[in-house]
Amino acid sequence: MAVHIIDDIPFTLIRCARRSVGLSVRPDGSVHVRAPLWLPERTIYKMMKERIPWIRARRQAAGKQIMIPPDGPELKKLKIAARERFMSLAAPWIERFEIRYGVSPLRWTLRDMNSRWGSCSMTTRRITLNLKLFHKPDECVEYVIVHELCHLLYPNHGKKFYELLSSELPDWKLKKKLLNNKII
Ligand SMILES: [Zn+2]
Repeated sequence: MAVHIIDDIPFTLIRCARRSVGLSVRPDGSVHVRAPLWLPERTIYKMMKERIPWIRARRQAAGKQIMIPPDGPELKKLKIAARERFMSLAAPWIERFEIRYGVSPLRWTLRDMNSRWGSCSMTTRRITLNLKLFHKPDECVEYVIVHELCHLLYPNHGKKFYELLSSELPDWKLKKKLLNNKII
């Protein structure tokens, strides 16, 4: 399994024992390609290129499906599930940042936001994550978590911030792309 990019569209290529290429766009907008083991990569790329308009349309439709329910039992259920998933993804990173840099967040807040995926206050050490992330793949959620944890050390997006982010998550750009390509 590897992440490739064609025309700004990231896709996961899965090699398996099958005879034809299978292409799917999931509800979270991620693109998965299943291809026979023997098929050359350039052939896969060629096929993908031909299907780009279709992929774009499917991803756009998928992106529109991200809706957070209004206040009520459904939202409560979503918040519980999101907290469980986000915190299990965050746990190893929290430990790592505490050991390496001596910083740790005090509180994690989850809420529906429209313009950002997360935020972090260095003074209150509170990290807020967008509930919409629940519909994104793990690697995108992980990117936001690590990004916000880096803000515990550097509040702004300066050189040092990006140095830290790149050292902790070398492929953060790809993950960010994956996250923002199928935006709301
Ligand atoms: Zn930031």
